[in-house]
Amino acid sequence: MPISRTNCPTCAAELACHFAKAVEGAEEKAVCPYDGLAYRDLRAGHDQIYFGGWRKMDASPGDILRAYNQIERHLRTIGRALGDKDLPAARRDLAMALDALQSGDPREESRDALRFMDHALSYAHRVIDDLLHEMGLPPHSPMDFAEWFNAAEVPFREEW
Ligand SMILES: [Zn+2]
Repeated sequence: MPISRTNCPTCAAELACHFAKAVEGAEEKAVCPYDGLAYRDLRAGHDQIYFGGWRKMDASPGDILRAYNQIERHLRTIGRALGDKDLPAARRDLAMALDALQSGDPREESRDALRFMDHALSYAHRVIDDLLHEMGLPPHSPMDFAEWFNAAEVPFREEW
């Protein structure tokens, strides 16, 4: 993922999602909520999609297409992290994620695009958890980071 001034140098997520908490303090500065965590770029990448506007009822076609492209990039990043690790379950989940993504292209009049995109993201989450598990770490919990994403509304559904 290309790093620019608008991306966090620690986790590579868009900086916009790091201000929510900081503005409560005297100084407005970006703090990375993923600092020090294993696979922080994968966690941050997942969560900025998970809490993105595309999952809301009033999402525009532009929100949805943007999310689709984010998921595609996210899966590529996960694939690189997986590398040649001997984690067959993770590899299978990544393949399922890519399958779901392919079925959910919002440019192709698919009425189920959102459902497939959601599936792709769920499988992506499972791969991240597999990678964490390999290190003996607990699964990633997006809700622990919700306050950073102005997620006043919780995504409209957890599972389909
Ligand atoms: Zn960050």
